[in-house]
Amino acid sequence: MFNKKTIKDIEVTGKKVLVRVDFNVPIKDGIVSDDTRIRAALPTIRYLIDHNAAVILCSHLGRPKGGSEAKFSLKPVAEYLATLVEFPIHFAEDCIGDAATQAAGALQKGEVLVLENTRFHVEEEKNDPEMAQKLAALADVYVNDAFGSAHRAHASTEGVTHFLPSVAGFLMEKEIQYLGQAIDDPKQPFVAILGGAKIGDKIGVIKNLLTKAETILIGGGMANTFFAAQGYPLGSSLVDNDSIEVARELLQSAGARLRLPVDVVIAQKIEPGAETRSMDMGPIPDGWSILDIGPATVEGYAKVIATAGTIVWNGPMGVFEVPEFAQGTLGIAKAVAGSNAVSVIGGGESVAAIQQSGLADKITHISTGGGASLEMLEGLELPGVAALQDK
Ligand code: AMP
Repeated sequence: MFNKKTIKDIEVTGKKVLVRVDFNVPIKDGIVSDDTRIRAALPTIRYLIDHNAAVILCSHLGRPKGGSEAKFSLKPVAEYLATLVEFPIHFAEDCIGDAATQAAGALQKGEVLVLENTRFHVEEEKNDPEMAQKLAALADVYVNDAFGSAHRAHASTEGVTHFLPSVAGFLMEKEIQYLGQAIDDPKQPFVAILGGAKIGDKIGVIKNLLTKAETILIGGGMANTFFAAQGYPLGSSLVDNDSIEVARELLQSAGARLRLPVDVVIAQKIEPGAETRSMDMGPIPDGWSILDIGPATVEGYAKVIATAGTIVWNGPMGVFEVPEFAQGTLGIAKAVAGSNAVSVIGGGESVAAIQQSGLADKITHISTGGGASLEMLEGLELPGVAALQDK
């Protein structure tokens, strides 16, 4: 199924191996506050160290403006990594240039070097060949293990593959296998659950999933645009006016396979302690907004989920960050966790929601990549993967 070479298919012993990881983790006051992505990269790093390679890690972090910015430094991540492993972790103040070249040159087998944020150079996002070549010059082999960045053709994800033998890491392989199988060869019935704020980014996903899934359960702010297409007054609810027409077309072409909430939770304010009302779907009063799916919807969706063979979920069912509007998302999380289906949760907010529910260990696969998993659900090829050597 996954037809790219991995680190198991090539010789890495004694080699300098440049690994693109996704260390784009949240950092508060210089301390890593969620280490999921760092831990997810460990199998690849450990394999390379166990096979006597010298490992050079590169990643982006946040959205620096193109120059060096202390708050986006990967140094705290390197320090954190050092607490997880028993081999030496070095750090270079730049990802290319003298600092990187010297540190990479001095690196020994069995050691790791973490390079500073690739996005401290504007050339990274421009996929500049010169930057890619400089990165490549640090190593003998390139490994892409950054699933979360694989949908971007940048110097460290795509450009570099033009200058080095390039293969996938274990995280990349695992992500593509689970998501790819769910989409291309799902155990039927295949049920997709889509939520989140905006429908705009997910129209391609809905269109592609309609060719594969038996049922698509819609929740979150996204449902509002479908309600607008059906002609409901929606009060102050979030609506994507530019997408109403395409929402109407989707409703027509999908028929009963696209399910919308039958009841909703509304409020005048999005804040803890706000007065809420639960109502069957109908005209929303002025000044009120739809902020969650209601209990009857959770019950109906749970029945569909219970019969599924494969479930893919992306996006919360409501404003789950506020406890008053979290019940819908939690209810769906419980239903997905309780099902016997192969369940895959696409990155970002839905992962935060499943972790908040304490049910993460009941899910078959939780993706580390939001944007990348959405592009896979849309049926698009990821440039960072396409560029790797075929088996
Ligand atoms: P996304 O990044 O598109 O998956 O959107 C996630 C965000 O959607 C979360 O932060 C939720 O608070 C938000 N969201 C979910 N449902 C609604 C809603 N009904 N109205 C406004 N925002 C929502």
